[in-house]
Amino acid sequence: MSIVVENLTKYYGEQAAVHDVSFEVKKGEIVGFLGPNGAGKSTTMKIITGYVPSTKGNVKVCGKNVTVDSLDTRRLIGYLPEHNPLYLDMYVKEYLQFVGNLYKVKNVKERVAEMIKAVGLEVEQNKKIGMLSKGYRQRVGLAQAIIHDPEVLILDEPTSGLDPNQLVEIRDLIKKIGKEKTVMLSTHTMQEVEAICDRVVIINKGEIVADGKTSELSQTDEMVTVYAEFEGHVSKNLLGKIKGVRKVEKVQDGWLIEGPKTANLRKDVAQFAQENKLLVLTLRVEEKRLEEVFKSLTKA
Ligand code: ADP
Repeated sequence: MSIVVENLTKYYGEQAAVHDVSFEVKKGEIVGFLGPNGAGKSTTMKIITGYVPSTKGNVKVCGKNVTVDSLDTRRLIGYLPEHNPLYLDMYVKEYLQFVGNLYKVKNVKERVAEMIKAVGLEVEQNKKIGMLSKGYRQRVGLAQAIIHDPEVLILDEPTSGLDPNQLVEIRDLIKKIGKEKTVMLSTHTMQEVEAICDRVVIINKGEIVADGKTSELSQTDEMVTVYAEFEGHVSKNLLGKIKGVRKVEKVQDGWLIEGPKTANLRKDVAQFAQENKLLVLTLRVEEKRLEEVFKSLTKA
């Protein structure tokens, strides 16, 4: 297991930021840490990276406790903090060499050249960081996070503030890096999770409210919705009489019919159509959109 977080609690004075949070990240996974602003994402990440102590609970990275073996674990982790604190007056190469030296990276000049290539910074490599666009600054941030070849990458809102083109480029870069590393990234948008992550851990008000494969999360609900289109007139009332149906809603050309997951709703709707001599034009189970799952899990 690359990251194990056990019963983590953090208070800033009286203010509870994270409460009894537990989750694990397997080697090679790209996990999205999703939650609204103030949910406790940055705090959890700062504790995993050893920058902030926890009030209670344990964190292990690659089997080592981040508090007890803090020096070892820092070598195992690459971290891109939320506000990517770069030295704007330094040149790209100079800064990366500086970080490489902090980590005592061997053949630092060659390693810097390798990193510049890996994150696509060749064209901008001779500039001062302050001259770079936000997208290129994020590339510098990613390069500094992987320069010591860590096993685990912790990226705090790596795409916030990027324009749509930069967003696509940085996401692609993270996916590329994620082929070789374990990655945990925080975000407050579901699109980001759908674009990059295998799994998602959702946090709200300091507590974990969901944890699962991105593809499975949409099926956690107890209800299932069938979308049906019929030729000819059908009334809402009549549809409501189908066995087990809880809710019927008219949408453009068809109907959304909701019932319990345990029932075979699609079959029951088909049978209903046959009994009422209705021609079925479309009949499918609707996947609940992840965005809606997220909204329902994190509403106040
Ligand atoms: P997120 O990253 O999900 O936006 P944070 O971890 O930054 O959430 O914050 C979680 C909660 O802890 C918020 O209520 C925030 O105001 C509070 N908090 C964060 N950092 C501090 C701090 N240094 N001092 C006091 N409260 C803090």
